[in-house]
Amino acid sequence: MPKYVFVTGGVVSSVGKGIFAASLGLLLESRGLKVAMMKMDPYINVDPGTMNPYEHGEVFVTDDGAETDLDLGHYQRFTKAKLSQKSNVTTGGIYNAVIQKERRGEYLGKTVQVIPHITDEIKSRIRMLTSESERDTDVAIVEIGGTVGDIESLPFLEAIRQFRLDVGHGECCFIHVTLLPFIAASGELKTKPTQHSVRALRDIGIQPDIIVCRSGDHKLGPEQRAKIALFCNVGDNAIISAEDIAPVYAIPLNFKKQGLDETVLRLFGIEAEKEDLVEWAAMVEKLQGLQDTVRIAAVGKYIAHDDAYKSINEAFVHAGIANGCKVELEWVDAEQFENSVAPKDVLDDFDGVLIGPGFGSRGIEGKIRAVQYVREHKKPFMGICLGMQIAVIELARNCLGLKEASSTEFTPETPEPVISLLSEQRGIKDMGGTMRLGAYRCDLRPGTKARAAYGTDVIHERHRHRYEFNNAYRERLEKEAGLVVGGTYTHSDHELVEIIELKDHPWFCAGQFHPEFKSTPLEPQPLFRDFVHAAISTHAARRAT
Ligand code: GLN
Repeated sequence: MPKYVFVTGGVVSSVGKGIFAASLGLLLESRGLKVAMMKMDPYINVDPGTMNPYEHGEVFVTDDGAETDLDLGHYQRFTKAKLSQKSNVTTGGIYNAVIQKERRGEYLGKTVQVIPHITDEIKSRIRMLTSESERDTDVAIVEIGGTVGDIESLPFLEAIRQFRLDVGHGECCFIHVTLLPFIAASGELKTKPTQHSVRALRDIGIQPDIIVCRSGDHKLGPEQRAKIALFCNVGDNAIISAEDIAPVYAIPLNFKKQGLDETVLRLFGIEAEKEDLVEWAAMVEKLQGLQDTVRIAAVGKYIAHDDAYKSINEAFVHAGIANGCKVELEWVDAEQFENSVAPKDVLDDFDGVLIGPGFGSRGIEGKIRAVQYVREHKKPFMGICLGMQIAVIELARNCLGLKEASSTEFTPETPEPVISLLSEQRGIKDMGGTMRLGAYRCDLRPGTKARAAYGTDVIHERHRHRYEFNNAYRERLEKEAGLVVGGTYTHSDHELVEIIELKDHPWFCAGQFHPEFKSTPLEPQPLFRDFVHAAISTHAARRAT
C-alpha cells in the first residue's frame, strides 16, 4: 500500500503548493522511494485545455495526451513520477463522470449527492493513481488546488478527510502551505492568517501534520515557530520555513536543510536509504554560477503572464545549464513587424530567435517577417508547433513565390494551403477538428541537425495542434527552397513532417511538436540545448567583429 501526502494551501492562492509538492517528490525520490504525483483542481472546466493560457498559465501535455494544469510541469521537472490522464482531476471532470454514471442508472435509484457520490468519485481517482502500479509507488503526493475556505475546494477537502479515515491514520499525511505576511511598520512576520487558515481546515476535520510557511524575503524566527506550533497544534520540527529562493531549483535544498523528508518519513514510519541529492545540488550550483549571457528573442504576443509559456522558459534555463551560459529570453511583439518596424532593427540585437506555439491569426504576418529575417541573416532559429508552421509559410511565400501561401487556420480559403488540416489534405469531410495530442514517434533523418542533437534515430515528443504540414508542397520546398525534412511520423500510408530545417543555415530547426514539455534541469532538451549553443556561437562571432 502506498502512503499518501495531501498538500493544501491557505491564506492566498499562488502560495507555491505546486513547487512545494514537486520539491517534496524530489526529496523522497532522493531517499530511494518511488513517487506518484497528482493535482486536483476545483474549477468546473473538465480540463484546462479550453482555458486561456494568458489567464490560467500554460496547458501542460502528458505523453498520453492529457491537457493538464501547469503544476504538472513542475512535477515533471523535479521528479521522475509518471504523469498521465490520471494525474490531473478537476471538479468538472468529477461531476462529468458522476452525471454519466447517473444517466446509466448506476446509482440504482438513489439521490445523487455531493456526499457521498462526489466525494466517492474523488477518492476513487486518488486510488486510481496508484492502482496499476501499486507495488511501484511508495508515496503518492496529491496537491489540492485552490485555497482552504473557498467554496469550490470543499468536496476535495471532505474527500481527503474521509480518505484518511478509510486507509488509516498512519497511511496519510496532511501538509498545509500558507503565507506569513510581513508588516513593515512593526518589522514582523504575522502568523494570524495562518492560524485562521488552519482553524478553517480543522473545522472540516483535517489537522495538518506539517505547516509550510511562505515568508517572502524573511526567514521564520523561533518566535513565529513557537506561535504556529502552539496555535496550530503541530510539533516544532513540523514547521517549515519557505522564504523566497531563486532559482526555483534551489528550493528543495532549503527544505532538505530543514529535514522535511525526514519529518515525512518519520510520520509514515518509513526507514529509507541515505539521501543522494548530489547531482541536483551540483546542477543548482552550476546554475547559480553562470556568468555569460546569451539573448534570445521570442517573437509572439506581447505577454504579461510569465506562466503562459512556463515550460519554454524553463527549457531555456536547462539549456543554459547545459551550455554554461545564462539565457535571457525576451518577448518581442510580433505585431510591430506588421507596421513600421523592420525585424532587423529589433532582432539584430539578439543571438537567436524563437517562434513558439500559438492559436489564432494575431501577429502571424509579423512572425512571418521575423522568419524571413532569420533565414536571410542566418540567425539561429527555433520554431515550436505554430513556429514551424510559420516557417513553412515563409519559405513557400518567399522562396517558391507562392505569395498567398498560408495555413487554413488563418485563411480558410487560401489557394496555397501549405499548412492545413489532415482531413482537408486527404479530402475527408467528417474527420478534422480534433487535436493531435500527446506523444508521437518521430524518425529522425541521418545528417540533420535534429539527428545530431538527439543522438538517436527515433524520438517521442508531445503534440498539441490541429494543423499539419501539407505534403503536396513538400517536394517543391525541398528542391527549390532549401527545406530539409529532419523527422517524420509514419501513420498507415501517410507520412507527417514533424521537423523542418534549412540547408546552408547555421541552425534553423523547427518541430511540429512541443519539446519543452520533456525538458528537465538534469536532462536538458536536445533541441533547446543545441539552439542555445548555436546562439552562443553567433554571440561570440558578433563580439569578435
Ligand atoms: N494553432 C496551430 C495548430 O493548431 C498550432 C498550435 C500550437 O502551436 N500548439 O495546428
